[in-house]
Amino acid sequence: MCMIMLLRQTCGVSMAEKYAVGVDFGGTKILAGVVNLDNGRLVSSGKKKTRQVQEHDDVIKRLNDVIDEALIDAAIRPNQLAGIGIGAAGQVDRKKGVLVYAANIGVSDVPLAQPISNRYKVPCYLGNDVEVATLGELKFGAGRRCDSFVCIFVGTGIGSGIVSGGTPWRGHTGSAGEIGHIVIDPHGRLCGCGALGCLEAYASRTAIAKHIVNELKRGTDSFIRDKIDLQKGILRSKALAEAVQMQDELVVHCIKEAAEFMGMGLATVMNFYNPQRIILGGGLIQEVDLYFQQVVKVAKRQALKVPTKKIEIVKAELGDYSGVVGAAMLVRQQ
Ligand SMILES: [Zn+2]
Repeated sequence: MCMIMLLRQTCGVSMAEKYAVGVDFGGTKILAGVVNLDNGRLVSSGKKKTRQVQEHDDVIKRLNDVIDEALIDAAIRPNQLAGIGIGAAGQVDRKKGVLVYAANIGVSDVPLAQPISNRYKVPCYLGNDVEVATLGELKFGAGRRCDSFVCIFVGTGIGSGIVSGGTPWRGHTGSAGEIGHIVIDPHGRLCGCGALGCLEAYASRTAIAKHIVNELKRGTDSFIRDKIDLQKGILRSKALAEAVQMQDELVVHCIKEAAEFMGMGLATVMNFYNPQRIILGGGLIQEVDLYFQQVVKVAKRQALKVPTKKIEIVKAELGDYSGVVGAAMLVRQQ
């Protein structure tokens, strides 16, 4: 919130500027903001929790509520917008503006762009959440002035966006960057995608939470016991950070182990793609510095000498708002 306050003080709303609403539609929350398209600054924001297994109308209504909140907060009317961009956590049909399948949200085949465009009477564009967060970092964050980079976001799952020659690379059928599903153990843990041994099942926050729950059930003592939902295995990054601060043995061990796997994933990216920069974002990276530091150490130890020599591994600069800013930039991309 501090960032928003600061930005509000430094950028008043002038009609000469172009604004768009960016919406980050994730598995746990919906974030929206009015964004100045010329400088990527956030003028206002709105937030709501994502409900699981929703009706299509309910999904649209919740998105409308968050967009309304951001518009009211910025004192901007829809007819002053250049458009609305949405980044959704799932597979999307960009042309039709349809959210095809979103495992973490619990819906499929939801037409999003058209009903929102009809309501606000401005163009509405849809992209994948990781893709738009990468776009945000490319235009206004840690990816500025960088031709080749990979943005990796670690949270509930692990996703990445690839930038090549200064533009996003989506792959032949639009699904490039699924680093969470590179296989690190063919006989390993079951992943949400149905395959065995995917990186995501070892290095995400969900994987850390599962590991911790198993240990707690075996009776291991830990500060985190009161902060975790033992049934659902839900654990916030902030709670992990607090436990690390208190030098909680179990949590430190589980985080280091997950980071070891993530470092291997990064080394694979470095060897294969030889990017100039790797940008790491998402709750776990932002909140838990031990995880970030360990990932960097392992990646540099593990990757080949030549790609390691000049690699820059940095944190995302737009924090929670790379998705919102990037989604707004979809309006300019068209
Ligand atoms: Zn998988």
